[in-house]
Order: sequence, then C-alpha cells, then structure tokens
Amino acid sequence: MKVGIVGSTGLVGQQFIRLLSRHPYFEISELVASEESANKPYEDAVENKIRRIPEKVRKKSVSAIDDELDCRVIFSALPSKVAREAERDLVERGHIVLTNASAHRMESHVPLVIPEVNPDHIGLIEELDREDGEGFIVANPNCSVIQLAIALKPIHEKFGIKKIDVVTLQALSGAGYDGVGALEAADNVIPYIPNEEEKIKEEIPKLFGELNGGEINREKFRISSSCNRVNISDGHLENVSIELEEETSTSEVKKALEEFRGLPQDLPSSPETPIKFSEEKDRPQPRVDLGGDTPMSVHVGRLREDNILDYKFIVLGHNTIRGAAGASILNAELLYSKGLVQDQKVVSG
Ligand code: NAP
Repeated sequence: MKVGIVGSTGLVGQQFIRLLSRHPYFEISELVASEESANKPYEDAVENKIRRIPEKVRKKSVSAIDDELDCRVIFSALPSKVAREAERDLVERGHIVLTNASAHRMESHVPLVIPEVNPDHIGLIEELDREDGEGFIVANPNCSVIQLAIALKPIHEKFGIKKIDVVTLQALSGAGYDGVGALEAADNVIPYIPNEEEKIKEEIPKLFGELNGGEINREKFRISSSCNRVNISDGHLENVSIELEEETSTSEVKKALEEFRGLPQDLPSSPETPIKFSEEKDRPQPRVDLGGDTPMSVHVGRLREDNILDYKFIVLGHNTIRGAAGASILNAELLYSKGLVQDQKVVSG
C-alpha cells in the first residue's frame, strides 16, 4: 500500500522514512514538507539536518501539502500549529491521517490509540458521520505519555491505579530540530516544557477510558506531572509513583509488568515484549538500553515501595521511535489488520 509522510524532513519524519523504507505492508510514495523544501530532491531539502538517508528516497522530489498526493494513508509529523488545519484538509481530501501532532488528539471523535493499551478505541471510526470519500484521523499520544501508558497498563488492569505522580527527564530530540538551542541545552536542565504536563494529565485518562458508542468515558485518575528537558539526544526517562486500589506486593507488580503482552502482538512493528523489565539497580539508562534492536519496547526498572504513594519505578522509551514514528506505524498496521485502510478512493489535491 502506498503511503505518504508529511513533515518528512523533520526528526520524526526521518524516523518514518527509516522505518518505512523496509516495511512489509507500506511503500513510501510521497514525501511532503513546507514550501521551502517543496520541489527539491529530498537530500537537498534536509541538507543541514540529516544523518542517514535511505538510498531509495535520496533523489525523490519533495511535495507541498496542497499537491495531489498519490496515497490514501498519510503519516503526519507536522508541527501542531500547522497540523490543526492541514490534517483536517487532508481528511476532507480523502486521506487517512496517522498523526503525531497534538492538534486533534483530544477531539472526542478522534481515536487516541496505543495498540498495546486501547486497540478497541479504533471502534470510534465506525461511529463517525463521514461524507462520501472523506478520510479520518487516528492519533498517537505524546511521546512521554506513550511509554508511561504502556508501563501503567498491566498494573491498572490487575490492581487498579488511583494516583500517578510522574517526573520526566526528556531528550533534546523531543523538541524537534528547532526546539532547543545549543547554548540553552549545553550543561543544562530546563525545568519546563510548554504544555507537556497538561498533555500527560489529559491524554492518560482518555487512553484508559471506556469506549461507549461514539465516545470515550475517561478514566478517573489523580495525576501530577513535572517535565524537564535534559541534555541527551534520544530517550525520555520518567520517575513514576503510583497509588493502587488493591493491596499487593512488589513481586506481584513486577510479575504483572514482565508478563504483559499487548493485543495484538503479531503486527510487523510489535515488540516481542512491550515492557522489558530490568533487575539491575542502576537501569534503565538511555545510552545503554536504547541502542539495541528493541526500540519499540519500553524499559522499566527500579521498582520499589514508596513511602508516600504505594510503588515507584523508572520508565524509559525511545521518543522518536516508540514515542512517535514507530507508534504511528503500529497504529497503521492495526488499522490495516482490521481492513480499515484498504479499498477506498482518494480525492486529493
Ligand atoms: P521538526 O523536526 O521541527 O519537523 C517539522 C516538520 O514539519 C518538517 O518536515 C517541516 O518541513 C514540516 N513543516 C513545517 N511547517 C510546515 C508547513 N507549513 N507545511 C508542511 N510542512 C511543514 O519536528 P518533529 O520533532 O519531527 O515533530 C513533528 C511532530 O511530531 C510535532 O507535532 C511534534 O510535537 C510531534 N512529536 C515529536 C516527537 C519527538 O520526539 N520529536 C515525539 C512525539 C511527537 P521543513 O523542513 O520544510 O521546514
């Protein structure tokens, strides 16, 4: 199936290209970026940014977003401000948009999905009142939310979670190419990321909510979040404390985390285990644990009792793969496996 990538020259766009250039279902037919990049060969459009370009897209001409796009499915890595109108427009032109941007995530008719956490929420699509030839949007959550939700899922399922307190240490790549200046980042920690704490508080209850016809009844958690930008390239690390509804033990929580398997677990981008649990006292670490061949797994470690809430632990995930491009591709695979992206005409351009 032909697919396009809008925002293809950015950090997330480049991960899409890398992951899709060897994908069993999807073939890149369109690379889209801003007017400044349009009509240039991809390698020229990313001249000052890129580290690795797969050979088959090197000379491919970059399209503008208003061009006729030869694909039904579009992966979006647009900045949110641009995505608000641009993604709606793509939907009206018949495209199915798998988006990383936050612009439409909290709209009641937009499924916000992590296949291991709430695959049933794609059911919202069936309830949409769509015009003939219109597409739809499926969003993946914010990068720090995805890894947190995956770690919380088996614990909430088994013991019920009442309160969540999370402190994040987020990589520079999470802010995109123009996000944090070199002088701001060097030898520094920035204890503020615009809108990030709010996204955690809003998106987690939607993800764990119950699908009820055409809407999601949000789960009732009490959530406190503090977000920090730290001077590493890739990987968000989170200190998480939780209060549970049921009494249990550290070994039972550990068992739930280790035994967790997502549904479905057999899509091309599904990790073998959604959670990799570490026993070592100083793991997980971004440099040590994210370099391997399991970028779609979330790493959990340092599970222990907490004096204020019940338990605390560390979660680590790769923000541009598990937290962005890989997450959208997994959502597209889920839709594909349910027959939701095939056989419909595109009215583009
Ligand atoms: P980025 O590096 O700044 O890339 C932005 C991309 O959007 C570039 O390809 C840029 O093209 C394109 N663009 C900008 N304005 C445009 C316009 N008017 N029309 C068409 N294309 C336009 O950002 P990023 O980090 O990849 O993030 C992309 C999205 O994913 C954001 O919404 C972000 O919040 C979200 N996200 C990012 C991460 C992460 O870890 N970075 C994780 C989860 C979600 P030009 O090169 O031509 O300017």
